[in-house]
Amino acid sequence: MTARDGSTAQELLRLGGVTVRFGTGGRPALDAVDLTVADREIVCVLGPSGSGKSTLLRVVAGLQQADAGQVLLEGRDQSGVPTHRRGVGLMFQDHQLFPQRDVAGNVAFGLRMRRSPRADQERTVAELLDLVGLPGAQRRAVASLSGGEQQRVALARALAPRPRLLMLDEPLGQLDRGLRERLVVELRRLFHELGTTVLAVTHDQGEAFALADRVVVMQDGRIAQTGTPLEVWQRPATAFVARFLGFDNVVEATVRGEAAATPWGKVPVPAATPDGPCRLLVRPAGVRLTGAAEGLPTTVAARTFRGTHVALLLQPAAGPQVEAACALRDAPDVGARVGIGFDARDVVVLDGSASAD
Ligand code: ADP
Ligand code: MG
Repeated sequence: MTARDGSTAQELLRLGGVTVRFGTGGRPALDAVDLTVADREIVCVLGPSGSGKSTLLRVVAGLQQADAGQVLLEGRDQSGVPTHRRGVGLMFQDHQLFPQRDVAGNVAFGLRMRRSPRADQERTVAELLDLVGLPGAQRRAVASLSGGEQQRVALARALAPRPRLLMLDEPLGQLDRGLRERLVVELRRLFHELGTTVLAVTHDQGEAFALADRVVVMQDGRIAQTGTPLEVWQRPATAFVARFLGFDNVVEATVRGEAAATPWGKVPVPAATPDGPCRLLVRPAGVRLTGAAEGLPTTVAARTFRGTHVALLLQPAAGPQVEAACALRDAPDVGARVGIGFDARDVVVLDGSASAD
């Protein structure tokens, strides 16, 4: 693991082969999960509902026992260590502020638990409220706060005891989109400023990509891919990851040399792609519109305005529909006949045999 300055970063959290089963039989909720988080790193676990994200956090917090595997914090095995001795903070989706306490009473909760001197509590509360953008809000009633403000209070409360690892479960899930997009940028800045190590989980890819130094994609209790947001976005490893990120141009293919045979005809592939059967992802940006007489003939089945571009759904005579992106001024009408070509730079060879998912 290498930090931004090039030095080897210290490992704060390590999960080795962590497995959790609820009941007998069936798929485990967590299936031999290996994961490390470096000191000061922001890792975001991304996956659909039911993929095991909350269970993962609960195991690290000591709220859920693992059936197999180990959780190490700063190199120390945590088996038998109770939650309150692990030095981790956990913030749930429904932030559960104490309605009968004011803002300061909520933020100081963890400090009271550890019996910090009153003056220290007050100073810390004031500092944290400044930090989360609610200066002077100490005496406000929780019920008088907006959803976004409550989320900030919950965050200040989680940060107050200075946990060595802060864990966030769908932290912005309840908020509307505009607020979420703003808060996520602020959070990232705040965590870097404080040097907080963060393990967050979310089903929202936008949130994960905006917040994380590193994204971990989960599928059915297993890790499907790990990488920087850019790596995962540019090179989804499997058909599952590609589809989860919203890429629908995934086809069975057989590579031979510099091109692959697909239901859409020949598609060029990146240099050095091994020959044989595989699955290909063609990112919409790699679908070029040509004149109606050239390329693969298609008909425009749908077009959706997406703000920066128009998403086109194109129906070839044979094979699945193709999603393409084009500039607003070039967008053909529904029903128009257009030819398409493919650009190898936006073709990604996916892992896994053609039949597995
Ligand atoms: P996520 O947070 O990604 O939505 P969870 O970790 O909550 O997923 O759940 C993973 C799987 O484990 C799901 O199939 C869920 O139904 C199951 N599960 C979670 N908690 C329990 C529990 N306490 N008892 C039984 N099954 C559970
Ligand atoms: Mg969950």
